[in-house]
Amino acid sequence: MCSMRVFAVAAAVITVTATSAQAACQNTGNFNAWLKDFKAEAASQGISRRTINAALNGVTYDKRVVAYDRKKAVFTQAFLKFSGRMVNKSRLNRGRKLIKQNASTFRRIERQYGVPAPVLTAFWGLETDFGAVQGKFSTIRSLATLAYDCRRPELFRPQLIDALRIVERGDLALEDMVGAWAGELGQTQFLPSDYMETAVDFDGDGRRDLKRSTADALASSAALIRNFGWQAGQPWIEEVRLTKAIDWSEADLAIAHPRSQWASWGIVRANGKALRKDGTRAALLLPMGRKGPAFLAYDNFRNVYLKWNESLLYSTTAAYFATRLAGARPVTRGTADGTGLDLKQTKQLQRALQSRGFDVGDIDGILGAGTRKAVKAMQVKYGMPADSWPTPELLRRLR
Ligand code: CA
Repeated sequence: MCSMRVFAVAAAVITVTATSAQAACQNTGNFNAWLKDFKAEAASQGISRRTINAALNGVTYDKRVVAYDRKKAVFTQAFLKFSGRMVNKSRLNRGRKLIKQNASTFRRIERQYGVPAPVLTAFWGLETDFGAVQGKFSTIRSLATLAYDCRRPELFRPQLIDALRIVERGDLALEDMVGAWAGELGQTQFLPSDYMETAVDFDGDGRRDLKRSTADALASSAALIRNFGWQAGQPWIEEVRLTKAIDWSEADLAIAHPRSQWASWGIVRANGKALRKDGTRAALLLPMGRKGPAFLAYDNFRNVYLKWNESLLYSTTAAYFATRLAGARPVTRGTADGTGLDLKQTKQLQRALQSRGFDVGDIDGILGAGTRKAVKAMQVKYGMPADSWPTPELLRRLR
């Protein structure tokens, strides 16, 4: 399920036409015949006839949903620009206010699940603007469409069954099954299967209502985050400063060192004070290369954030937002602004890397994990600082 959360987020994204073979698949067979078969399957899985008929009778195929799904929703901006927009003054103020207003709920949640208020509040703000923007698509219709559609039926069929279970169980009424286009529901955009497996009734009214109950939505998010492997009382990311050049190839989410090691390489806290020299594991995250902002990414970041949303840009922004809500200063901008490549240049870079045998995935202009890895390998080969951040200079040399 985790990788699917990438579809969530009411936040601004640009869409790129999908180029994979899946996107070009053709639907064969009639939707109504498919629906009849699906109803039989739902009944065989123990959903009552009453719920099946109430939810699925007269449901139609939604072309808009398929159109969304055949585009790839991606975040393309560089970290400083994206986080500047997402973590703006009004979101920060609103987040801080809501943490105060819900202080006793947050305390109870942290006691039970170990996840602190700023972490939950940042996701809450990014996903739905704290519950205000939850989506307007019929969940049942969206999921029936995606479960019928040829592209990824195996992913959405179980989601549709679980959506019926949510209604059957009485957590949400059928008319409340309204949310994002890919079936996510509630204040922190849960997919129905996460909802069924993980959601909790935290306000004690007997229903798990992630739409209207802030307590239910936040505690359920905490339960999900704990299940991803959150370690209570541990940090997630921390902005740092580099006082000298290091071996840039060490700046890689896949490489963790004890904090004492980073300290010995001249890395200090953002305020210039020394890092605690202990064994806490961390990776060095340079979202815009060596001239941009720098963070130590602790195990909570590496284990949890990328499961909530597989986009590194979204994850870094959510984690940074949480640090701001916890009292951190605005990020140091560095001098990385303007040193990166635009969408067209990134596509040229991807083609050049692909022709050298690197697997960069689709030529989509998106700086994802595959492209970063290939960039790093080429930087090593050319003897350039291997910080995985592509520059016009690297593009020139590849040509
Ligand atoms: Ca409840």
